[in-house]
Amino acid sequence: METVEEEHGFARLAWSYKKCRKCSFVLKLPTINENNLKCPACEFEDSTPSPFFDLSLCMMIDLMHESYRTGIKLPETSPVFGVTPKQAQNASVVIFFCTIRELLLERFLSSFIRWFALPVSLIKRVESDYDTHERRLNKLFPALTGQKWIEVISSLKSKETDFVALDLFLKRAATERNNLLHEGDHFGMDDTITKECIVNLFSLVDLFVALNNLYIHQMRNRLIQKIKI
Ligand SMILES: [Zn+2]
Repeated sequence: METVEEEHGFARLAWSYKKCRKCSFVLKLPTINENNLKCPACEFEDSTPSPFFDLSLCMMIDLMHESYRTGIKLPETSPVFGVTPKQAQNASVVIFFCTIRELLLERFLSSFIRWFALPVSLIKRVESDYDTHERRLNKLFPALTGQKWIEVISSLKSKETDFVALDLFLKRAATERNNLLHEGDHFGMDDTITKECIVNLFSLVDLFVALNNLYIHQMRNRLIQKIKI
């Protein structure tokens, strides 16, 4: 019998993360088809809450999952032009995983910047000045939050996820991906790292849900409180 992930695809699971339209708090609803949200932060009741992830992100999650499912079924064979079909499939899982990580950071920072109601030209200028993942992580993130990435990661608490250990894996996956894409001589990706990408995918999602609730939700909450005054 297939698991929920196998039956519905990971993208369907991503759709179960909903955002409160009143206070921007994000939570995962218990079942895929459930739509009724009672926000635990502001108690707003909503039968049509917004999905937290956009379609392109869900599509990337689905593509990563499909690559993984295809890869684990492939037999070990001799390399063709230095790489086996299984290794190539494994590499695509890691590439998708790293792309999802980059998209999640980009979406988070974009939501953050838009809170300041800056002119569109200035937003575009900021986005073009911070056009790589490293610059966004190491320069723009601390400029907006007032804290370095690792300080924030270390302070986040979760029963399910060790975010510092997750961050170490994110760096390892990015190194593997960069060695493959930029050095071009590293096709030795085995099943181990692809399984870790799958295992860590929703921990990565939970990290950005936690960041949303720490910053975007809190900013919106303060605005709501001001309006009440
Ligand atoms: Zn709410």
